[in-house]
Amino acid sequence: SRQLTQPLSQIAAMSNLLQSGVASAERIFEILDAEEQTPDRQGSLPSPLRGEVRFEHVDFSYNPETTELITDLNLQLLPGQQVAIVGPTGAGKSTVVNLLMRFYDVQAGMITIDGTDIASVPRSALRSVTGMVLQDSWLFHGTIAENIRYSRPEAGDAEVRAAATAAYVDRFVRSLPDGYDTMISEEADNLSAGEKQLVTIARAFLADPAILILDEATSSVDTRTEVLVQHAMARLSSSRTSFVIAHRLSTIREADLIVVMEHGQVVEQGTHDQLLALADGAYRRLYNAQFAGAAVTEDPQA
Ligand code: ADP
Repeated sequence: SRQLTQPLSQIAAMSNLLQSGVASAERIFEILDAEEQTPDRQGSLPSPLRGEVRFEHVDFSYNPETTELITDLNLQLLPGQQVAIVGPTGAGKSTVVNLLMRFYDVQAGMITIDGTDIASVPRSALRSVTGMVLQDSWLFHGTIAENIRYSRPEAGDAEVRAAATAAYVDRFVRSLPDGYDTMISEEADNLSAGEKQLVTIARAFLADPAILILDEATSSVDTRTEVLVQHAMARLSSSRTSFVIAHRLSTIREADLIVVMEHGQVVEQGTHDQLLALADGAYRRLYNAQFAGAAVTEDPQA
């Protein structure tokens, strides 16, 4: 049975920590880390970071007594490249991200950033160079400005506004009576799901991380805002190494690398054209099932 809490949903739970007055990201990660079994070490990542990420012969299982979920995973991303991770629910997409963020440690092999084994650096250092934009928009009770500034508390108003503009937040915020001082709360439904997601994207712009993790949501967002969300995510990821848990064909097609997962294993890697050329390939099956015929309506901007 699954007794462990899944880290990606733990992140959503952090908003509760924030509401209860816990202020800094560091403190939250301390809390998370305290729950984890493996100790931190004191190495450091190079600075400035180029953002090269490698998975080398990675084995991982949530329960080492049972069969391994991931075996011999190898991935290489050059700085600024984008990987789209695709596959059905339960295939292991979030697990790859969980390992990169060290919510769990690999059982064999290693993950490196700019050549440094991430197991040798404190999780806080790792997470300070890694931005996440997840499906559950991760906002707390506070103003829009406070929510954006959360990723970099010392940022000035002009920087907050620049990040908001990059994420298409500025325009709708200025149409609100209280502007950037508008309170975000669960009860007051003053922002749509898509607008909330744009605020989390603005937060990521402000943080300016070398490595980005995006979980594409398409369901809860209205079409007009979804276009903005997609454009904002594309701009955010364009200059950084990005892992995208991808659901949209346009994202997948433009990725430098597509990683196709099934049952916890990477079954194929390559570009859209390479993978589509595999006669009986997993990507081709996925593509035919999910996207064939949908390409015309799928992205109104294409
Ligand atoms: P995806 O993101 O592709 O939907 P996941 O990486 O979440 O897939 O899950 C891969 C497999 O690992 C699934 O069988 C899932 O049930 C299992 N799993 C995910 N998280 C945990 C966890 N925290 N503890 C135990 N098993 C997990």
